Amino acid sequence: STPSTSNFLRTIIERDLAEGRYDNKLWAGRPGPADVQQGGEVDRARIRTRFPPEPNGYLHIGHAKSICLNFGLARDYQGACHLRFDDTNPEKEEDEYVKAIIEAVKWLGFDWKHQGEENLYYASDYFGFMYEFARALIESGDAYVDEQSPEQMRETRGTLTEKGSDSPWRNRPAAESLALLEAMRAGKHPDGSMALRAKIDMASPNMNMRDPVLYRIRHVPHHRTGSEWCIYPMYTWAHPVEDALEGITHSFCTLEFEDQRPFYEWILEKLAGLGRLRRPLPQQIEFARLNLSYVVTSKRKLLELVRGGHVAGWDDPRMPTLAGLRRRGYTPESIRLFCERLGVSKADSRIGYSLLEQALRDDLDPRAERRVAVLDPLKLVITNYPEGQSELCHAPRNPHEPELGMREFPFSRELWIERDDFREEPPKKYFRLFPGNTVRLKYGYIVRCTGCVKDDSGRVVEVHAEYLPETKSGTPGADSVKVKGNITWVSAAHAVAAEVRLYDRLFADPHPDSGDKNYLDALNPHSFQTVQAWLEPGTQAHPEHFWQFERLGYFVADRFDSTAERPVLNRSTTLRDAWI
Ligand code: ATP
Ligand code: MG
Ligand code: MG
Repeated sequence: STPSTSNFLRTIIERDLAEGRYDNKLWAGRPGPADVQQGGEVDRARIRTRFPPEPNGYLHIGHAKSICLNFGLARDYQGACHLRFDDTNPEKEEDEYVKAIIEAVKWLGFDWKHQGEENLYYASDYFGFMYEFARALIESGDAYVDEQSPEQMRETRGTLTEKGSDSPWRNRPAAESLALLEAMRAGKHPDGSMALRAKIDMASPNMNMRDPVLYRIRHVPHHRTGSEWCIYPMYTWAHPVEDALEGITHSFCTLEFEDQRPFYEWILEKLAGLGRLRRPLPQQIEFARLNLSYVVTSKRKLLELVRGGHVAGWDDPRMPTLAGLRRRGYTPESIRLFCERLGVSKADSRIGYSLLEQALRDDLDPRAERRVAVLDPLKLVITNYPEGQSELCHAPRNPHEPELGMREFPFSRELWIERDDFREEPPKKYFRLFPGNTVRLKYGYIVRCTGCVKDDSGRVVEVHAEYLPETKSGTPGADSVKVKGNITWVSAAHAVAAEVRLYDRLFADPHPDSGDKNYLDALNPHSFQTVQAWLEPGTQAHPEHFWQFERLGYFVADRFDSTAERPVLNRSTTLRDAWI
């Protein structure tokens, strides 16, 4: 596929390629420090990017932006993109999430293989390297073990207007820090009793440079390393090391890490100066994260929605997770199209949810077959049509693709129509069925409404009409009578019964978690409804099959619950924008 619209990230990559910045990059085919990479061959990838999710939840639509960007840029510039599990924080990480992330990236259509390399990595595989690097930083006088409590460290860190103050342990001999780090690792000290810190500048105007913590003690088992470690690297220390070990050239991250860039560069420069990392070094480049209206994308909040039973699971069709969007009927193509249309910028903004829905419509419109369905059925009896008789009507499979041909379905005496397509007393400008009015039954005949039947409570249970025999669609007389209304229908004796799940926005507030709002207060109580519907005969509801039901929207057969015998459909989106 062709490179998407140019953006500032492309400008940077093209500049780097033109200047040959990464030309003499070495790559051993596996991550490692300088001595390992020294033995490697010249890199076969012109650039290397990475998508580094933490396996502490399912991927969401915000991650899709990062995936499309990192894998897309690597593809466009004959590079490689690594899928790296950033699993340095043992508490919340689980194998279930690793599996779900792999499935989601594949589903989106991306691949971490590059010229025989299987570029799927785990940050936890580098714990040994990180430990060695930490020792090197202590030896060079760039790190020390601090025995202040976390509270004391916070207090002595200072504020934006006030300088921090040095820890009493800051200038202890390297040998002492080395011994303490080893004891920390050996499990001799409780959580929070001490930490390894970089020795940078307690007076720096950038708070992140005031001796940031590199290692903390956590006596917690890890989903991959078990109880091998009880010290874990902080994300800001681990990340530049991971990038460098993997030979990443461009490390794209979201804007909130901008203030971390000096520390990222400090770590890399120090370790390169100590001969532990090879140059050229990776560079961190920030872009604006995706914020979508009516949606929360924090994994913590998504987890709360699941655990609190506010949704049926991570893949509930109302969830903004890729698993949820997939179940809702979003296609990989539609999500890639959405991300392409978003572009990349350096300014935060909130994107309207309607942009996501429009991408789905634009993807499905040319390829979804049309069908008719009735979601809120009311019986229409054609009183002058013979009982037990039927005839076929014809309609295009997709009006944009005439070569796909026509579909056919029967017309008979008893039909299902939408309840909303009949009014006993029509409001102004109502052109559908009411006593005395004529409408076209789409692809069938023009009918004249003659009345209705009500039950004891006054509810309409049946509408009566007579058809005009010369007016069948596609015949010479079809246009002999002019009508303003055109309604859809299915033959009652032939229709396929289906459970249809109608979803609406999960939150009623366009900014559910802005300011000091509690996003749970913004939950939309009417976000889910199930109806028993009638589908055009011949509709085979195999899992993940999708259609446009005329007038109603795009629907997908649920990937888990639908069978050909017992169809279960999800409404993916309506035909028009309802998200103002
Ligand atoms: P959360 O705050 O929801 O837990 P995260 O950023 O901590 O998200 P990670 O698993 O660390 O989640 O994210 C992996 C990658 O995806 C990161 O590089 C991050 O920058 C990117 N990413 C996460 N959310 C968004 C978003 N809304 N828009 C763009 N990129 C995102
Ligand atoms: Mg993160
Ligand atoms: Mg996070």
